[in-house]
Amino acid sequence: MISLTETGLFSTEQLKVLSRLKVKDVRDLFYYLPRKYIDRTQKLDLRSSRAGDLVTVVGQILHAEMKFAGRRRFTIKVEANGFIIYATFFNAGPYLQKVLQVGTQVACWGKLEVYRGRLSFMHPEWEVMTEDGDAGSTVHTGRIVPIYRITEGMRAAYLTVKSLRQKIETCLQKYEKRIADYISPETLKAWQMPGVAEALHKIHFPATIEETEYARRRMAFDELMLFSVLNEEKKAAIRRIEKSHKIVINLALKKEIEALEKTLPFELTSDQKKAIFGLMQNSTASYPVNHLLMGDVGSGKTLVALLLALVYMRNGLQVAYLAPTEILARQHYQTFLNILPGGSFEGVELIIGKDAAKERRAKLDRLARGDSRLAIGTHALIQDDVSFQNLALIIIDEQHRFGVEQREKLRAKGKTPDLLSMTATPIPRTLTLAYYGDLEPFYLKEKPKDRLKIDTRLFAESDLDRIYKAVRKYVSEGRQVYIIYPVIEESENSDMASLVSEYAALERDVFPDLRLGLLHGRLTGDEKERAMQKFKEGLIQVLVATTVVEVGIDVPNANVIVIRNPDRFGLSQLHQLRGRVGRGEHQSFCILVAPDRLTAEGQQRLDALVRTDDGFELAQTDFQLRGAGEMTGLRQSGASEFHVADLRIHGDLLDKAVEYLQSHPEVQAQFGSLKNIQQALEKGLVLFGN
Ligand code: ADP
Ligand code: MG
Repeated sequence: MISLTETGLFSTEQLKVLSRLKVKDVRDLFYYLPRKYIDRTQKLDLRSSRAGDLVTVVGQILHAEMKFAGRRRFTIKVEANGFIIYATFFNAGPYLQKVLQVGTQVACWGKLEVYRGRLSFMHPEWEVMTEDGDAGSTVHTGRIVPIYRITEGMRAAYLTVKSLRQKIETCLQKYEKRIADYISPETLKAWQMPGVAEALHKIHFPATIEETEYARRRMAFDELMLFSVLNEEKKAAIRRIEKSHKIVINLALKKEIEALEKTLPFELTSDQKKAIFGLMQNSTASYPVNHLLMGDVGSGKTLVALLLALVYMRNGLQVAYLAPTEILARQHYQTFLNILPGGSFEGVELIIGKDAAKERRAKLDRLARGDSRLAIGTHALIQDDVSFQNLALIIIDEQHRFGVEQREKLRAKGKTPDLLSMTATPIPRTLTLAYYGDLEPFYLKEKPKDRLKIDTRLFAESDLDRIYKAVRKYVSEGRQVYIIYPVIEESENSDMASLVSEYAALERDVFPDLRLGLLHGRLTGDEKERAMQKFKEGLIQVLVATTVVEVGIDVPNANVIVIRNPDRFGLSQLHQLRGRVGRGEHQSFCILVAPDRLTAEGQQRLDALVRTDDGFELAQTDFQLRGAGEMTGLRQSGASEFHVADLRIHGDLLDKAVEYLQSHPEVQAQFGSLKNIQQALEKGLVLFGN
């Protein structure tokens, strides 16, 4: 590639500044993409233009004059299409005087003013026209012009938006034909996509704003192509690893699982059956597998995970089941004991923070020796003193609650363990392949039979009395109710204080005759456990809580959830909260008590929630509202955001890129080494050819 030095367009200072921004050659310069565009296509028209309009004028300088009245003032008189317009520049240097001479063809763009009865511009953007004087050949005026990000350093080196724009234009003119394309013209035509050179040209100097989208689509494709190359390579690398454990699914094991399924109080959904079968199948691979199980709240993921755990355990291997909260860890532990015949199971350990030292030691010894096969726990599982004899499967419940580091730390406790990530925030398929890219995910779309749709309604705070009345009615019918407050558990703020006082008020004034309970993150594990247990047993009728209950808690008799200030929660979080009800045979209600003033986005979120209780649809809405970078579960996936591609718009291109790569394996070589590709992606440059 031609270095910037070779172009002869940049001063030493400028080269230095650009190089610090990783712009070293012409290609880097081309990928210094516009931050935005300004439409300067509007021409001055005496019939329709008004003072204040932003317009372009192209004409000849009839008169030029420098005046010194306190400060220097330079004025030119321009004749364009038979009318006269003046342009004035204050504090003008000799440079202007030298360039804008009488007889010169000039283009000016700026705000049209009428000053002392004369059409004028103050400090317009200007440029001297080339010989032919064709307005189409302007760079800075009379067209849609690109605006670039200019850093302090660039400014100090006299690299302004205008000078940079000029240099990019010159380089494009000169070198754009040298840009090679890895896609054939025929394919491009079939895809209705521009070539690289055309795309670059159009992204900098589009004739219309639509053209930028057209160009961007091509660049997005290239970026996703690079991403796919890396992804394929990552996958191939994983497949080359020989896993240290082996899973055999023999007839006895199959029989045991079938028999177990029969003892359940309900029939598995067909999605659950498919997932169990598929996961078991995957687990027999010779390389470490990365299973992903996505299922809406209440779709029954736990059971699927526990049955898979059983497969590993029966193969003499160990499993770690990581849950985000103590309450959930206990609940999963209990579920496991319940599904196993006999009700008790040796070799299952519950590892949570509050264990007494001696008790913990004993549990850890059993795990280290391999006497126990399954460890269900919270973050306490990740601690250094926890070791396994042959850890072969890691299950991560509500995986978006955990960071990459935590996952890796747990993974390091085994040799080449398999991983099962579970989430109730389904991610569009394209995204899973983009970010997890390893194995096809399993979806639990089907809700267990007999589940009624949760009736979700939006109320105002002034409706609280009515709402409390309804709560009282359901409690009198024997049901239970959640009331959720938005408290940021981690922060030392007033939320907690207001929760405690609200609770006192509810207990004293609103429901003095009902049994209330309070659950939040600052309680000790024991206190939380006691509150949960009491709620499960029906001893607490109204549970006032924070998002501690958000994940996973299962109390089928609860049929109403009241959410205060729902606008302060994200869409997936709200959906999760709502999933606390609708778990039993009773019609359930989710009551959103919104403040009077909502942001537009807040309103959209709540509307979406009222409209549907399909988690997949909500995930799609969330994605459309916020983009991939913000989606729970993706933020921590380790993949950085794309620079050009936006999967909301360019999702289809990812599939296209993967397909193209498979049918044209030779293209990879054209991108250079994997390291190059990695760097290119990080830089936001989409490199190829030379
Ligand atoms: P999630 O996918 O949100 O983790 P859970 O695994 O907690 O859901 O399951 C929610 C509830 O549904 C539990 O009480 C569980 O016992 C029950 N359940 C699971 N599978 C079925 C099924 N096939 N039919 C009926 N109930 C089921
Ligand atoms: Mg769950």
